[in-house]
Amino acid sequence: MNHRPAERTAQKTVVNVVHHHYALKKSGTYDDGEKPDRGLCMIIYGTKGKSIHVADGDFFCPRCNSEQDYKHFQVKNYFTLYFIPVFPIGKGEDYLECGGCKQAWSQDILHYDPVAEMEESIANYQRLAVLFLLDVGRCTSSTLSSLKDVLDELFEIDVEKSDIANDVKMAQSASPEIKKFFKAETQELDVEGKVLLIQILKQSLESEGPLHNSEQRRIIELGKVTGLRAKQIQPVLDA
Ligand SMILES: [Zn+2]
Repeated sequence: MNHRPAERTAQKTVVNVVHHHYALKKSGTYDDGEKPDRGLCMIIYGTKGKSIHVADGDFFCPRCNSEQDYKHFQVKNYFTLYFIPVFPIGKGEDYLECGGCKQAWSQDILHYDPVAEMEESIANYQRLAVLFLLDVGRCTSSTLSSLKDVLDELFEIDVEKSDIANDVKMAQSASPEIKKFFKAETQELDVEGKVLLIQILKQSLESEGPLHNSEQRRIIELGKVTGLRAKQIQPVLDA
């Protein structure tokens, strides 16, 4: 989603260098013993992108985390000779530049809905936590209610208890392989997001007292599946 078109910085410039040696004397029998003069002609050609500002608008910039103005740029590729744009040879990908942070975004960013994105992310944490509680045999009304409290406090929302109950039913009927599920569903999380998941797992269990060694080991195991290292997981468990 987030990319900076190479055209903008002209990094995409393809340079083809043609060394073309030719004799200056066209008719050369060289009988006079004179060697033909040789010249070196170097032709440099390639393509270069030019950005044209074509429109303006407002959007939600995930980097600024707020509404911002944007400039819509159209990229046109030019055939270049000696790095001088000669004629247009087609269109590159359009992009939007944030007026706040100057980040270039694909036009898809206009469909980005921060609220929906956040809700989906919370629902994902919830599913993973429910699956974990079932896995360690601690899916009780007390741990489920503490899962709700943890999510409510972390994200400043009010999770529906029926939503959590629904996740329990789904997990029980589908019984997905927990490691595969953790790996697949945490791919888009950064380290911070993964550490947060560890925190949610731990705090949901703590309502019934300190974690057993076997539960700690399971959290470390699952954390590693998401790509975290033991030294990133342990401080959360020790906290
Ligand atoms: Zn921005």
